[in-house]
Amino acid sequence: MAKIISLLSLCFLLVLSCDNSPKTNDADLNPTQSEEKPEAIKSAFGFTLNDYEVVNDTVSNGDFFASIMDKHGITPREVYNITTTIPDTIFDFRRLNVGRPYTILKSKDSLAKPLAFIYENNKIDYTKVFLNDSIYGERAKKPVTIRTRVASGVINSSLSLAIDEAGIDYMLTNRLADMYQWTIDFFRIDKGDRFKVIFKERYINDTVYAGIESVDAAIFEHRGKPYYAFEYEVDKETRRTEYFDENAKTLRRFFLKAPVQYSRISSRYSPRRFHPVQKRWKAHKGTDYAAPRGTPIWATANGTVIKSGYTRGNGNYVKIKHTNKYTTQYLHMSRRAVKVGQRVNQGEIIGYVGSTGLATGPHVCYRFWVNGRQVDPYRQKLPSAEPMPEDIKPAYFEFIKENKKKLDTDFMFADGLKIEEEIQ
Ligand SMILES: [Zn+2]
Repeated sequence: MAKIISLLSLCFLLVLSCDNSPKTNDADLNPTQSEEKPEAIKSAFGFTLNDYEVVNDTVSNGDFFASIMDKHGITPREVYNITTTIPDTIFDFRRLNVGRPYTILKSKDSLAKPLAFIYENNKIDYTKVFLNDSIYGERAKKPVTIRTRVASGVINSSLSLAIDEAGIDYMLTNRLADMYQWTIDFFRIDKGDRFKVIFKERYINDTVYAGIESVDAAIFEHRGKPYYAFEYEVDKETRRTEYFDENAKTLRRFFLKAPVQYSRISSRYSPRRFHPVQKRWKAHKGTDYAAPRGTPIWATANGTVIKSGYTRGNGNYVKIKHTNKYTTQYLHMSRRAVKVGQRVNQGEIIGYVGSTGLATGPHVCYRFWVNGRQVDPYRQKLPSAEPMPEDIKPAYFEFIKENKKKLDTDFMFADGLKIEEEIQ
């Protein structure tokens, strides 16, 4: 999928609903307690922590499993036993990542013998290594809860600031920009434009935020006209989803707007420009997107690779034929990722940004042909993506009913900011 994401200059005023306070009955994360109560039960990683002496630490530079164990009184012979008993597939002892947290549980007696080592592979996954008696390892996941939230906003002040103040993941803005890339020009939105979005977030242990799970539905009101978007699964096997409007019209187009993410247009299609390398005036029949070297380049539409090669001017380049009418080309790649004759899908990686050929810096030069004539894709009326099959539509309308109602009712922005709702 394409992402046209340069929204930092955008203006939104964002409000977020939802009760953010952690659940107070969660002993795991609320060690504080009133004096007269008995000691609260604390648990983590499936252990009752009260039963152990708990050591929390993080892997530092130069730490090895053996050196950490040594610090806690485990002999090299015991370490050898542990590392040869537990298979690599459970825990790769040679690969402790610097900065990752770990926990050691020790016996509460005077021996303070280490009984278990817990390594947090990432925010969600962790590995338990039982160090005593019966040595064994186990992988596990922290419980993840999915919370549905509703956010709404009125375009008013700086987006980044508003998002920051509201404590909302900036990725939500990126998702919106992505969904609406063909419907709304985010560089030309107006003060007073407003939106409402229903999305899901992941929480670890019900409290620790772990990113956006999905954006289920949204409405963006631009110059008084509502634009709906509903996520719907279009492929049962791959679970691929797409966004459609209230009439089951796809929000996607036949072509993506850009062949790279997080890019900026550094040179537009123009009949005359001064060439920075050749130092002369000539037409620039492409659009240049500056992006860091190695950034993936996507096919902007489904098609067949008709060229994948190198020339002195183009550097590494790929050319794709989409239909009899449309052809696109991508230049100056550091590396090509497709071969001639290969079928590619929209959004598939065909190469990586570089500066091979006549280029001053890393960018991709995107060229576009209609009926064999090179044109500016941004001045073309381009075809829509394939519509939703008729026989799916009734199920789709049923599916979006509830979310549409949620978007329509309470669609209020009194004082420019109002919405409070949590769906669970
Ligand atoms: Zn160019």
